[in-house]
Amino acid sequence: MTTKYINQAEEARQRDFINTNQSLLKGRTHYYIQTFGCQLNDNDSEKLGGLLEAMGLKKANQPEEAQVILLNTCAIRENAVGRLFGNLGNLKSYREGQADVILGVCGCMMTQIQNVNRIKQSYPYVDLVFGPQDIYRFPELLNRVLLGSKRVYDVGGFDTVAENLPISRERKFRALVTIMYGCNNFCSYCVVPYARGRERSRPQGKILEELRTLAKEGYREIMLLGQNVNSYGKDLEAGPNQGDFTELLTQAAQIEGLERIRFMSSHPKDISTELIDTIARFPNIERHIHLALQSGSNPVLKAMNRKYTAEEFMDIVRYAREKVPGISITTDIIVGYPGETEEDFQETLKIVEEAAFDQAFTFQFSPRPGTKAYGLEEIPAEVMTDRFDRLVALQNANTLKSHEALVGESVEVLIEGLSDHTQDHFTGRDSANHLINFTIDDDTLDSLGLGQADWTRRGADLEGKMCRILIKDAKTFSLEGVLVEGKVY
Ligand code: SF4
Repeated sequence: MTTKYINQAEEARQRDFINTNQSLLKGRTHYYIQTFGCQLNDNDSEKLGGLLEAMGLKKANQPEEAQVILLNTCAIRENAVGRLFGNLGNLKSYREGQADVILGVCGCMMTQIQNVNRIKQSYPYVDLVFGPQDIYRFPELLNRVLLGSKRVYDVGGFDTVAENLPISRERKFRALVTIMYGCNNFCSYCVVPYARGRERSRPQGKILEELRTLAKEGYREIMLLGQNVNSYGKDLEAGPNQGDFTELLTQAAQIEGLERIRFMSSHPKDISTELIDTIARFPNIERHIHLALQSGSNPVLKAMNRKYTAEEFMDIVRYAREKVPGISITTDIIVGYPGETEEDFQETLKIVEEAAFDQAFTFQFSPRPGTKAYGLEEIPAEVMTDRFDRLVALQNANTLKSHEALVGESVEVLIEGLSDHTQDHFTGRDSANHLINFTIDDDTLDSLGLGQADWTRRGADLEGKMCRILIKDAKTFSLEGVLVEGKVY
């Protein structure tokens, strides 16, 4: 498959649809996008928001305030599928009651024909269906609905990469930047290669151009996104201006103004010692790696088609800890993969103990239609739950231990806003991606002109600022602290 980079002529064509839609949308004022799943979907929704704002609409806080509603779906786990159809059910009366409302569904689930057919049969009030690879031609698809076409269901091929899409970014402290699409790994349990196609990298020059613009716009933190960022650039011809992920990261780290560079996700089979050396070399590259283990048992890893062994995984962990002191390592683990024995599971617990992950996202195996693992004999639910509970208990103890080791330390934190959990607290993350809730003393708030301001204003004003926090207390999923040095910068 050859990647098709959307050319200027096609970009101009879509811009014409944006202009035409502005008048066709007359009387409609707001849009609402509900996003399920990962940060790649979040970034896709930001682009859809940017396109709708270019057509003159404003963001609504809830679907009932909007005339264009999009549900951006995730196909990774069964509960994501259930949530989509639940939400569509909830929107039935609103959509059927409002002739001018347009309801669309997009994202990874729409690349699976069984989901599109289910919408066709059971949700006739859905006006528009398209895939994650069709976002660049959303203006054209919406135009067809606006011109009266009933039910525009048009999911395109997986060979495109589009640039220069307008974007409405959710946060002002962190900018999401997708560097590549798709995945070639075909892990036995995963739908992503079927839902997002083969790996397609954006040209390095285009990414660096976007990063420079973001730095000028005042973004201090960026998140480089891909299903498997370590294979970035492998599908492109290498040259003086086009390298691999380590080269991209090296260039990005030298862009003035970018104080934090994060990236996700890494694959243990592709992560290189050069990449870890590059993290060690540039302090503005985050002190955190998310490295999905999935299982600690080699027979299970083989069955999952993960292409590395538990020993190779641990070699990377040790190398990273040696080269980047204080680095936090987080992971994903699936329990109950078909055929997993108690001995296999014990191997997983052994690696979790040895690696001492700072955090782990733990999942029970969820069979996905279309994947190699679908239809394999499943582990009894009670056995799966028992293993899941034992794993979570061990990992939570490790997470708390790694947090307790930080009590008394002072760390630099990028403020994300007000804490959701602790009243009158702010929240943010350090370079190692630890979640920190903290207080700022009244004198400092006064000096920032926020002494009399309400908390909402305080949170909004300080979002995107840096400060230094003394860690006072450790919880399983967060840290508590106080501002030191009385300054926010
Ligand atoms: S690396 Fe495996 S788990 Fe990750 S997106 Fe690709 S196929 Fe899915």
